[in-house]
Amino acid sequence: MAPAGMQGGYQSTQQQTTSAGNLYQMGGMVPDVDEDGPTPQVPEQYKQRNCSQKFMRCTLSAVPNKKSLLQKAKLPFGIHIHPYTEMTAEEMPVVQSNVIVRCRSCRTYINPFVAFLDQGRRWRCNICMRTNDLPQDFDFDAKTRQPIDRMQRPEMNHAIVEYIAPQEYMVRPPQPAVHMVLLDVSQKSVQSGLVHTVVNSLRENFLNLPGDDRRMFGLITYDSTLHFYKLNHTLSQPHMFVVSDVDEVFMPSPTDLLVNVKQSADIITNLLERLPTMFTATTNQKTCLGPALQAAQKLVSPTGGRIMVFQCGLPTDGVGKCDRQENASLRGSAKEFQQLEPSNDFYKRLAVECSRQQIGVDTFLCGSGYQDVSTIACVSKFSSGTCFYYPDFHAERYPAMTKRLQHELKRVLTRQMGLEAVMRVRASRGLSVNAFHGNFFVRSSDLLALPYVSPDNAFAMQVQYEDDLNAGALCAFQSALLYTTTHGERRIRVHTLALPIVDNVNAVFAGADQMALTGLLAKMAVDRALISKLTDAREAIVNVLIDALGGYRADMRGGAPGFPAPANLMALPQMLLGVLKHPGLRLGAITMLDQRADAHNLIKTLPLSNLCRFFSPRLYALHQMPEDAGTVGANGQIILPPTIPLTAERLEHNGVYLIESGINMFMWVTKNAAPEVLYALFNVQHFDHLQPHRGTQTHLIESTPCYGFSPSCYAETV
Ligand SMILES: [Zn+2]
Repeated sequence: MAPAGMQGGYQSTQQQTTSAGNLYQMGGMVPDVDEDGPTPQVPEQYKQRNCSQKFMRCTLSAVPNKKSLLQKAKLPFGIHIHPYTEMTAEEMPVVQSNVIVRCRSCRTYINPFVAFLDQGRRWRCNICMRTNDLPQDFDFDAKTRQPIDRMQRPEMNHAIVEYIAPQEYMVRPPQPAVHMVLLDVSQKSVQSGLVHTVVNSLRENFLNLPGDDRRMFGLITYDSTLHFYKLNHTLSQPHMFVVSDVDEVFMPSPTDLLVNVKQSADIITNLLERLPTMFTATTNQKTCLGPALQAAQKLVSPTGGRIMVFQCGLPTDGVGKCDRQENASLRGSAKEFQQLEPSNDFYKRLAVECSRQQIGVDTFLCGSGYQDVSTIACVSKFSSGTCFYYPDFHAERYPAMTKRLQHELKRVLTRQMGLEAVMRVRASRGLSVNAFHGNFFVRSSDLLALPYVSPDNAFAMQVQYEDDLNAGALCAFQSALLYTTTHGERRIRVHTLALPIVDNVNAVFAGADQMALTGLLAKMAVDRALISKLTDAREAIVNVLIDALGGYRADMRGGAPGFPAPANLMALPQMLLGVLKHPGLRLGAITMLDQRADAHNLIKTLPLSNLCRFFSPRLYALHQMPEDAGTVGANGQIILPPTIPLTAERLEHNGVYLIESGINMFMWVTKNAAPEVLYALFNVQHFDHLQPHRGTQTHLIESTPCYGFSPSCYAETV
């Protein structure tokens, strides 16, 4: 779809040049967004060993040697880290050795980019440049005690390795995986179908919760009172305790409220089978979310673990009750950010306390009307959990929303997880990491506390200069994640990314990564939108684009016609336009405050590739798919139809389109769509026979022809 020469286009920094295109002449030919950024031009021997962009990605794959050069390029400098993904043994070898070699000064882990000195007896740290002695054991196999070639060791060949941590990395023995569920059983929750949906998912998946034979499970239900369940495996049926004093929460039983999953599987199943009918006739409309969280925290605090809470509507009783109502007149206004501040600090304080006790909280907000997402989400934000938001959840009315909850809940229940984690990111001397983005609590200046970490957690950090760097050399970023596996092993996962240092602005532009830039700019804009006017946050994005491309044009010798941009940044304007139209940052009163707060949470936490898909969704023309679309290809994958650019020119007046953002899918059916296409897709003969409904498979937009389509139309009605 893109003009010749627009794809990829990264030139070696050795040549210090970029191929340029003219944005004015692009017209509707918006380039496909190449998901891979420029490859860092490190020396040949390091290329295969460098960290994959999937796990660590810098906005500038060629790093300016000084602050003034960065200021000249006017591009933001930061890194995205996805530190705990599901990886194969090939991608991430486990180091089976009792020697963990680290720099004595800055504690960097030895990695493929260090230099050996003095006939290999010493090594120079590539982060702080200190020279360290190399332990003799480094050249011996730990098991056979035979000499080995150190260059064959995993930590010298892979930018990602995992160490099995010895005793000194533990403050206590590895704890069992503990899973605690809190379920709102008020009338609204029952009538919306939430109780039924959640309990069914739990019943289907609780035996697949991550963990070894020690893993534990507990469940508390709540309305205006708290209901505890004793699940001792010797009981014939669960014992229920009701605690109505929610001001002073106490445990009604000293034991068996949290039980071993394997031992008590039958009685847990028994409880989950009974639960949907236990509250069907309830008239209790109140919910005491705060006391329920406090009770769960008390139960889980001895071991740490994960709490999953399902709340329907605003919490009405006890600590943490939220009585703020949405002021719709503030939507999109200069004062909107005031309503995005938490209405109370209970959830943040609780999260910090939970973080200290190694407890992470995942929140599922499923009510109708205003939910005060910005307040309640704090309990996940600072405890390294995730907040999921399902506006106007109703199992019968919106079956697609129910499917989404079931799908996401299954993923949350069964995905692998790391417990009791901390993460630190180190940067080469002259650089420092600051302004962290993601869900965590900063324990000391650069140590992120993550009571639990999942493959869906991602983080970003901004980088600043402390000193000049040496052009021609390499700089590096190293992240170290110390965590406990659900099988009771303490491990350290280390990622190291090496990048070339350059001394001219053309090379900086040649290495600029449009996806990484878009992701970081969006995160920075969210921070700004939370403390200042939305228009300020939006202007900051536009200004970066104007300044950066203006700087590029000014630097082109002899000038250039039109609006030149480096080939590797040709899609940046389109992607940033997608950011500006996203519910997190768009103007106007159509974005409800909860929707805004949820969008902010997603922007701050989604892994980069998912985030960019959110800003620049895939668009497919379903009325003209190739013959083989939908069949299984040679690689075993379903063959998808080709994507088309996100421009109005590409939309036909009789088309049927699918827009997919990674989270939402929308189908756009035009009024003149051919009957045979409608029949093939929906089993109806005529447009008027379609039954559109929000949350179901079909979403109709009756505009013929479809003028004014923009990359964010997909998100208008979520
Ligand atoms: Zn060091």
